[in-house]
Amino acid sequence: MPLRSLRLRIFLVVLLLGMVPGFIVGASIIQNYEDRAVEQRVATVQNQLMIVANHLVSNDYLATYRSDEQVYINSRNVINAELEMIANLYEGRVMIINSNFKVVEDTYGISEGKIIISEEVIKCFQGENISHYDPEHGYIEMTTPIMDTTGEKSVIEGVMLTSISNGSIITMMEVLNRRVLLIETLLAVVVFVLAIALSVFMTRPFNRITQAIQRINSGYGDESISVPDYVETVHIVDQFNQLFQRMKSLDESRQEFVANVSHELKTPMTSIKVLADALLMEQDAPAELYREFMGDIVSEIDRENRIITDLLALVKMDKKVQDLNIAAVNINDMVELILKRLRPIARKKDVEVVFESMRPVVAEVDEVKMTLIMTNLVENSIKYNKDHGWVKVELDADHQFFTFKVSDSGIGIPEEALVHICERFYRVDKSHSREIGGTGLGLAITKSAVLLHRGTLTVNSVEGEGSSFLVKIPLTFIVS
Ligand code: ADP
Repeated sequence: MPLRSLRLRIFLVVLLLGMVPGFIVGASIIQNYEDRAVEQRVATVQNQLMIVANHLVSNDYLATYRSDEQVYINSRNVINAELEMIANLYEGRVMIINSNFKVVEDTYGISEGKIIISEEVIKCFQGENISHYDPEHGYIEMTTPIMDTTGEKSVIEGVMLTSISNGSIITMMEVLNRRVLLIETLLAVVVFVLAIALSVFMTRPFNRITQAIQRINSGYGDESISVPDYVETVHIVDQFNQLFQRMKSLDESRQEFVANVSHELKTPMTSIKVLADALLMEQDAPAELYREFMGDIVSEIDRENRIITDLLALVKMDKKVQDLNIAAVNINDMVELILKRLRPIARKKDVEVVFESMRPVVAEVDEVKMTLIMTNLVENSIKYNKDHGWVKVELDADHQFFTFKVSDSGIGIPEEALVHICERFYRVDKSHSREIGGTGLGLAITKSAVLLHRGTLTVNSVEGEGSSFLVKIPLTFIVS
């Protein structure tokens, strides 16, 4: 849709804002002039008619009784001449109507003797002066009372009904119209050019953003975009840059992960190949050697298997919250069961495992994933412990969360390693971890599972003394 273009919208808005007021002002100037011109013309003509009306009264023009006929005729002629002059001057017609609504004088000479009972005339007899402009037929009509003010009370003896042409007003209006039109055309041109310039200028930053994104998209752009023209563009660009950085770091971590996975999977394979090659090279190798090497090969295959199992578990953690299998679970029973399964391993290392539960806890969790969290933590505490050491598991809850704490008397974690231990494939001591069958994925899986439950995982450790892992999970699962 073309109207969705910002440039077109700015163009139209500027055009309308620039032109509409111009047209309104132009039209009102013309209208105003016409009203004022008509008003003025009516006032001038009324003035002159009033003077004549006074003459009419003082010369008894409308009187029926005349003392001197000759004097009357003379004065009537003078007045008629005056009326004639006014009629000519204003290209109009003047009629004098007496109190019987009879036309006693008409400058056109056609209506004398006729009766005119029109609304204007009646109103004028009632003392209301009327003027009426008819622009369509080009005339102004007005009434003037012929008022005798000599007596105690003023009496309206007759009415002058005058209509004059608006010719000169029209001529003036035409001149004015032409001028206004000229100014409006000039204004339109200026506003048009301004609208184009503004719409192009104001949308330029957006084009710049598009071009910069295109450059990045095609792979030869800068690392980040900067279009500081407007606050809005700064916001858009900031958000884009953040998104871009996130995508880049995601991509980098994916690459790193793939490299790590390949490396981790390759290591057991290399060992297997070395062992098999050695056997092949050895002619008449004794059966014991075969047995020994085969045993090593099997343990390498086990290791490969563990890595793949852990990787699959990690991939499962990347799934969405909707895929969680949430149910109310008795956490005390769950911990008991896990410890029961792990105690044989602990016994082998002569590590004592104790469980302290402050209260019975039932929480909404995914049972499989929660088991994984607890197993990983307790297993680590046994694995990275000293001989004759201890592992303490504590379970507690308040009205909102339950806490699961695993402390041990183990080897501890160096301070600088604490921030890394949840990273995939991170191991403090690679060879030691390998020896005891670690993949470096356990805590990464644990952390993901905790986050899926909207919980937190905190680690405290003193190297050489022991570590403690605290998991805090909401009792009720919050679907955001
Ligand atoms: P791994 O499979 O190697 O055990 P994890 O992700 O479970 O991998 O743990 C990462 C690293 O953190 C381990 O290699 C180990 O160095 C350290 N670690 C984990 N738990 C403990 C612990 N309870 N005591 C000391 N070190 C630990």
